[in-house]
Amino acid sequence: MQHFDVVISGCGPTGGVLANLLAAQGLSVCVVERFPEVYPTPRAIVLDWEAMRALQYCGVAHTLFPSTRPHPGTDFLGVDGEIIKLFDPAPPPYALGWPSTSTFIQPELEKMLRRALSLRANVTMKLGCTVADFTEDTSRVIVTIADSATGARETATAAVLVGCDGANSEIRKRLGFSLEDYRFDEWWIVVDAWQLCDTELPRKTTQYCWPSRPATYVVGPGNLRRWEIKLLAHESPADFDDPARLRAVMANYVDIRCFDIWRSATYRFAARVGDRWASRRVFLAGDAVHQTPPFLGQGLCAGLRDAFNLAWKLVFAQRHGWSDALLSTYETERKPNVAKVIQHAKEFGLIIGEMDEARALERDRTLRAELREGRMTTTRQAFIPNLANGILVDDPLSGSLMVQPEIVSQDRARLMDDICPMAFLYVTANAAAQAWMEPHADAWRRIGGQRIVIQSSVQPAPDGVTALVEAGDIFAKWAAANSTAAVIVRPDRYVYATVQDENDLARKLTRLDAQLGLAD
Ligand SMILES: Cc1cc2nc3c(=O)[nH]c(=O)nc-3n(C[C@H](O)[C@H](O)[C@H](O)COP(=O)(O)OP(=O)(O)OC[C@H]3O[C@@H](n4cnc5c(N)ncnc54)[C@H](O)[C@@H]3O)c2cc1C
Repeated sequence: MQHFDVVISGCGPTGGVLANLLAAQGLSVCVVERFPEVYPTPRAIVLDWEAMRALQYCGVAHTLFPSTRPHPGTDFLGVDGEIIKLFDPAPPPYALGWPSTSTFIQPELEKMLRRALSLRANVTMKLGCTVADFTEDTSRVIVTIADSATGARETATAAVLVGCDGANSEIRKRLGFSLEDYRFDEWWIVVDAWQLCDTELPRKTTQYCWPSRPATYVVGPGNLRRWEIKLLAHESPADFDDPARLRAVMANYVDIRCFDIWRSATYRFAARVGDRWASRRVFLAGDAVHQTPPFLGQGLCAGLRDAFNLAWKLVFAQRHGWSDALLSTYETERKPNVAKVIQHAKEFGLIIGEMDEARALERDRTLRAELREGRMTTTRQAFIPNLANGILVDDPLSGSLMVQPEIVSQDRARLMDDICPMAFLYVTANAAAQAWMEPHADAWRRIGGQRIVIQSSVQPAPDGVTALVEAGDIFAKWAAANSTAAVIVRPDRYVYATVQDENDLARKLTRLDAQLGLAD
């Protein structure tokens, strides 16, 4: 019987990223995917900078980036067609190394993830297969894999099984776990189309908050454009099987003669979060454990956050021994975080989708006043919370994302994560703060920790410390603004702690050891 460190059921974006992150760290991974080919049409169209960072560690971000488009921002139009609310994109230089939001073509991303997996010797792909059964004991999971075409079955063992098998997750059902319903239930039709000729279109992504017919227009990459249109109370998805009906509705927003419709499909948008995210050795990630209406463009991004969070903990457990305490933080960190994102997405859905004219007019008055008086949050990423529980300390930066500066490397700029491995980092703004780590250097190395100093010019670095030169001043400004010369950064690039002096570092490393299950 073959043994794997991890078996993953489902090779959508979440499973594809998780498999790449684990395999890149040397774990043996078996990916079981029911379809032989990548699903050919997109659902997600928006990616954020944190998702790009996870893709960086999969080795696909730089390949994907040229085919993406930085998000132009979003205007929300009220009943009278004028702006009631907006999102501005963060201007460059980008604090996390990538545009805060970009549009992309989902099947292209999934193909890149699969290709990256096919090049890794420690990955076994079982395409056209499903997990037919599994049982777990304290030390392993026994997984039965069924070939859908032949019906042949084989059994494998794994330290961990992860269900990344989407909203109808069989793994979740077999675990008997349920989803808490956040009470959002609407039918929308989604149309992706290639623009063939010039026609009048909004410059920005646009939310038509029109009670007569709420809709979203998204400026995709290249000449891809998307409309998401709410079905009215008397309509059913089957009504849109008639292409003439679809074209008539789209005429509210655009001259559809200038477009070649790639695909259209109706979706029932829901908001749900899993009650439980894991048994002892079986975990759920992505849509298998949470589903969001797409109004913040966050379903896939949240799945990639799950993958990154779980990946470093599984790698750590594989190298340093299983720790229930460490692995339990996957749920305690991710569940409240995604629950807040989904609540925000639902709130935006209710703003956009209001179908009562009087309430819509009242909404417009309220939002316009907020916008006029500068009380409105106009950056989309402000709605993505920091981590609040888990492998963190009581420190204002703990749980926020470390910036990603550009680094001068052999006379060309690269991003920090291209150079720093997916490991704990002790990052300082000067060599002096590295001296605080000297008494702990061996222990730090044992957990794979790296020591990095980032400065504005080439300076000598102590032994065991990698000296990086920042191309701009993102890190220098961030460190100064947060009054810190040193930070401990987790492998998923969340800040664990700021460090003020050698005693502070000693205290925080002791705390980290305990949280990682290394205290004894
Ligand atoms: C209209 C729409 C617009 C969206 N827009 C955005 C957006 O702009 N940004 C964003 O971040 N998110 C968006 N989303 C959400 C996003 O598409 C999903 O959150 C994301 O695809 C989830 O990825 P996943 O890998 O968890 O699940 P899935 O994409 O569902 O992948 C699951 C995989 O598991 C496989 N599978 C299923 N069952 C089994 C089984 N029994 N055995 C083996 N394999 C199995 C499937 O074939 C599939 O490959 C949108 C969704 C919709 C519907």
